[in-house]
Formats: sequence, C-alpha cells, structure tokens
Amino acid sequence: MNFTSWGQYPNLKIKAVTYSWKNLAEIFNVKKTFIPYGNGRSYGDSALNHLVLNMRPHDYFKSFNEESGLLHVESGVLLCEILEHFVPRGWFLKVTPGTKLITVGGAIASDVHGKNHHIMGCFSECVKEFDIVLAGGTIVTCSKTQHAELFHATCGGMGLTGVIVNAKIYLKKIKSQFINQTTIKNKNLKETFESFEKYRSSSYSVAWIDCFAKKENIGRSLLKLGEFGCDDKLQYIPKEKVSVPLNFPSFILNKISMSLFNWFYYKKTKGRVSNKVVDIDSFFYPLDAIKYWNRIYGKNGFVQYQCILPKEKSFDGLTEILSKISNSKRGSFLAVLKLYGKANGNYLSFPMEGYSLALDFKIDKGIWHFLNELDEILKKYEGRVYLAKDARITKENFEQGYPLVDKFRTFRKKNQMDKVFQSLQSERLGI
Ligand SMILES: Cc1cc2nc3c(=O)[nH]c(=O)nc-3n(C[C@H](O)[C@H](O)[C@H](O)COP(=O)(O)OP(=O)(O)OC[C@H]3O[C@@H](n4cnc5c(N)ncnc54)[C@H](O)[C@@H]3O)c2cc1C
Repeated sequence: MNFTSWGQYPNLKIKAVTYSWKNLAEIFNVKKTFIPYGNGRSYGDSALNHLVLNMRPHDYFKSFNEESGLLHVESGVLLCEILEHFVPRGWFLKVTPGTKLITVGGAIASDVHGKNHHIMGCFSECVKEFDIVLAGGTIVTCSKTQHAELFHATCGGMGLTGVIVNAKIYLKKIKSQFINQTTIKNKNLKETFESFEKYRSSSYSVAWIDCFAKKENIGRSLLKLGEFGCDDKLQYIPKEKVSVPLNFPSFILNKISMSLFNWFYYKKTKGRVSNKVVDIDSFFYPLDAIKYWNRIYGKNGFVQYQCILPKEKSFDGLTEILSKISNSKRGSFLAVLKLYGKANGNYLSFPMEGYSLALDFKIDKGIWHFLNELDEILKKYEGRVYLAKDARITKENFEQGYPLVDKFRTFRKKNQMDKVFQSLQSERLGI
C-alpha cells in the first residue's frame, strides 16, 4: 500500500504499522511520534508522518439496530462499505462528504461535512460514541456526555488525541436510492447567494462555480439541490469506475483547457431551472467514478484550497477571492461553493455559519506565493482553511482562523498526547 495523501504532496517515505492488540504496546513504546492513517483521502499532510498507524484493515461490522439505525463498526470501515450493505435495507449516512472512500475514523477525525451541513451539521452529529486509545495505551469510551472534552477535541482533532478504534453511528432511513435533483443556473455570485437562501430548506445543496468568469459574471454557478425519492427502489449498484492509469504530464492542465471545461460545463445546462432523477453515486460522489483522478495533476501533485467565511462577510470576501483567481493564470476544473449552518463546539471543526469555497490547484512555480495571497484576503474577512485539505498554511494564519486552538493544545499537553500523536501538519502548525 502506498501511504500518500490524496494531493500526492508532500511526498515522503513512510513506515506503516498495522495496529493490532498484540503490537499496540510496541507502537506506544517506539519513542517516535506517529499518526493514525485511514484511507489517505485527506489532501495534505494531516495523515502523514514518518511512522503511520494503518487503520484500514480494521473493517469489521459489529452490530446494527434496525429500530434506531445505530450501527457499530470498527474505525477502518469505509463509507462505501456501509452503503453497499445498508442502502438495500433502506438506510443511508446522515452526513457524507463528497467521497465515499473514507474510513469512519477519518470521518470523525476531520469531523467531515456534506451537502447538508446547513441542516444536519457535521459527522459528529450522528456519532453516539466511540472507543479511543489514548497516549498511555488505555482505551476510553467517549460521547457528548461521557468524557465530553475528549469527544469535542477528537471530532475534528485530526488524529491528534488518540486512535479511534470503533464507533457507534446513527444512519437515516431512506425510501429510494434515487434523488430528485434540481439545477438552478445563476448568472453571478449575487444570484448564487440568493438561490442558496431561497432554497435553504432543501435537504442537500451544493454549487459548482465557474472560477474563470470575470467582472459582472464572477461567481456564476450551477446550484444543485437534492431530495431523496420515495419509490421503494433500493437496489444499490455502485458505478463501474474508469481509471487514470498514470500521472498526466503537467502541461495538459493549463488555463486554456480548464477554462474551456468550465465554459462548456456552464453552457451545457439550458434554462434557469432543470430537473433530473439521479442515483446516489451521481449525486453524492461524482468524483469517485474516476479512480485515481488525482493523477491528472501530474507527478508534483496538487493542493486543494478550501476556505470558509462568516456569513455576513462571505459575499465580499468570496468576490475578492474569486476575482484574484480569475485574474491569475490559475484555476480549477471544479470550484465548489457550499452553505453552512451553525458551528459546533468541537475545538478544531472547520464549519462555521457561512459559505465555503473549494478549488484544486496544480503545484507549480509560484503556487505557494499565490496561495499566501489568498490567505491574506481570507484573514481580512476572518475566514479559515480546512485542515483536511491543507498542506501549507502558516502557523499564524491557522491560529487566527481557529480561536479554540489553545484549548486544544492545553488538552493535548495535559494528557501527554503531544508526545505520541504528531503529523507533519501538527508539527508545522505547532499543534
Ligand atoms: C474527492 C474528495 C471529496 C471530499 N469531499 C469532502 C467533503 O465534501 N467534506 C469533507 O468534510 N471532506 C471531504 N473530503 C476530505 C475527506 O473526507 C477527509 O479528509 C477524511 O478525513 C478522509 O478520511 P480517510 O479515512 O481517508 O482518512 P485519512 O486521510 O487517512 O486521515 C485524515 C485524518 O484522520 C485521522 N484519522 C484517520 N483514521 C483515524 C483513526 N482511526 N483514529 C484517529 N484519527 C484518524 C488522520 O490522522 C488524519 O488526521 C474529500 C476528499 C476527497 C478525496
């Protein structure tokens, strides 16, 4: 197994240990720091260290309660494995990110969010409790009421509080594997924001933004809304995947190819409002249809810039960020805008009430300087970047965006977690 992150940056030689009850004591005695590794779908350096603990083999389903929808699994279970077993029985994840190829442990550690954050919040909302191995090797069960501080530090805590070994999560009932999707075409950012607000009660919403549009067209978008159907069709057949066999030469991705893609994507949708019935994979996980799509960015890899801004500052801040991007030589195939509900109390969870923008950038000359400039804009509007996507922000910018970090640091120190659990990211950011 290749232990990299999804962005293929940074690239380092990693020694991986698979955790088992037998070698657990050994791992804690190696006198080196390590970090749990789920399925490597975080983009940056949050799951990387010279020593990682591979959690993926721990993929056992322990129990399921048909009445309450409570599922007990080991933390290495992938979300796609849950879907394959439970969609045909009429159950779906309460919160799911834009890929189903992540582990339950990774979902808790990043406190991931989906297209329904404005209604359902983060993944931690559906977690009843989990067992976690702490720095001294002891196992603790924690929940919002039992070892509550550990719960709030661990959900979103990027593997820095301990090793989650299993979890009990609630699933939600569904009556179909199909989603009624409505697409709203918006001319600019103002219209995009108005549509998000107008359809706020929609169960799921996400907008694709044309990040090459300029001036009065900045922020033009296709907003996709979704509601599960109720036709009792629950047969779930995961889509066949096409695969990118190797890293593309990096010149293939350039401003012309990407802006043409963006232009066609926007233009191919006709009319202001259109409706379609789509399946789970097409609505929630379109990128998973292409295996190793990360290789199109070439061997140097790529970074995703995902930032969130407080609601009252989102319009001005995003206008400035999008203008900066469209006036640069850079851009992304997929720029995604989402609306978020209220923040939770977890120390390092990313979401806050507002809007987030996410874009991929190929790593090339000048990229770090360019992203630093975006950080400056973000700072001005009191936003923050998502740790699960990050490989490069500065300690200062991180601290400015995450006001609860000192509480997190104190908690880690008090429990000697900082002596055991470290990633390249936590070292860079002094967490
Ligand atoms: C195509 C794509 C779309 C995405 N869309 C979204 C999205 O819509 N919303 C969103 O929130 N995220 C999204 N992500 C990010 C992804 O959901 C998170 O990075 C997730 O944490 C990855 O989980 P993983 O199992 O691959 O963990 P890894 O990437 O291996 O690790 C991520 C973090 O979790 C920690 N961790 C993993 N397992 C454990 C464990 N057992 N115990 C303690 N800590 C652990 C690691 O130390 C690390 O800090 C997307 C990623 C991709 C590639």
